[in-house]
Amino acid sequence: MKIGVLAIQGDFAEHIVMLKRLGAQAVEVRLPAHLAGLDGLIMPGGESTTIGKLSVDYGLLDPLREFGKTHPIWGTCAGAIFLSKDARRAQPLLGLMDITVRRNAFGRQVDSFEADLTIPELGEGGPYHAIFIRAPIIESVQADARILCTLSDGRIVAARQGKLLATSFHPELTNDVRFHEFFLSLAY
Ligand code: GLN
Repeated sequence: MKIGVLAIQGDFAEHIVMLKRLGAQAVEVRLPAHLAGLDGLIMPGGESTTIGKLSVDYGLLDPLREFGKTHPIWGTCAGAIFLSKDARRAQPLLGLMDITVRRNAFGRQVDSFEADLTIPELGEGGPYHAIFIRAPIIESVQADARILCTLSDGRIVAARQGKLLATSFHPELTNDVRFHEFFLSLAY
């Protein structure tokens, strides 16, 4: 299993550590040519405006869109924003996933928080401890996109559309490998 991690900004290194722990080959993606031969791609948290603008500069926008039509892509936090069709403001987006997101929906850096989530797709092992850092909310899912998980107040924080995944939180910053395992299962 060879998984790329978009490595132009944000916490891509933590995703690479997780993938290696699970025995997958992890490849840093900075240019279109780096997508060749990958079984899937993770787009990390960071700053979605920066990731979008640099993707334009590096000629990655269309190659990433093409890749996502036939391969699994998982966006965490800023990566989820970049994956979406609508971030309610003008910034470069891949527009692959039929979700509307609202950036920084929980407030500023000091309003970052952690929460225990119930995610049936992750199977046994109890609640999933999730870390939210200036996180977006998934305001709505459209077409055949499905809600994977909400906070206790009903706000959507994870969604899936076929082999595309979006999470508001950061599984790469925990010790729990279940979300990365779930993504790898989509790439098989
Ligand atoms: N606030 C960032 C954005 O809107 C996302 C933060 C993150 O990835 N942790 O792009």
